Amino acid sequence: MPSGIYIHKNGRPKVQFCPKGHDTFITGRDSSYACIECLKIHNFIYPIEHKDAIQKRRKQHYIENRIKVRQEQKEYYENNREEIRAKQLQYKLDHSEYFKNYLRKYHKERPYISRISTSKRRKRIVSFGQEGIVEFYKNCPEGMVVDHIIPLQGKLVSGLHVLSNLQYLTIYENRVKCNYWDGTLENNGWRKKLDVSKNFN
Ligand SMILES: [Zn+2]
Repeated sequence: MPSGIYIHKNGRPKVQFCPKGHDTFITGRDSSYACIECLKIHNFIYPIEHKDAIQKRRKQHYIENRIKVRQEQKEYYENNREEIRAKQLQYKLDHSEYFKNYLRKYHKERPYISRISTSKRRKRIVSFGQEGIVEFYKNCPEGMVVDHIIPLQGKLVSGLHVLSNLQYLTIYENRVKCNYWDGTLENNGWRKKLDVSKNFN
């Protein structure tokens, strides 16, 4: 324990050495009697020396707090479900023009999405063979359409909405092919009906 010189001023003892042993007669104290040297260490040096620990603590605090906040939000939602839903519905009604325009713009900028959902409505979606389908629709060349090699709604069989059953055809080819099926997996028989001159106009 460092020894100090005690000077009584305003009824309070003045201590020369702070608990860390700094000579406060040299370093000084702030208005709340804290050692300036200790404050410097705490406010300036500590954050630099313990950067990683502080970051880690902040991150931890953020994660814990986020879980807490989410839990609170969830509870609030469950307790006020009807009210919140009514508000959401009212908001949608009040901004229906905005949502309509937004959706219109969204699908105009991404025409392949509506083409995909049209196919989905034909209910020939299966869980396999879906990888690359979005890209296939996206990469459809100008003036061509995506065709199902074995038609989704044929007279005898129905093909599947899988990547291996997709091909690009011109609009004319697609119209000639329709839902034709020649009984083979390649299903090329319809090409005999093509009028070659029309395909290159
Ligand atoms: Zn000190």
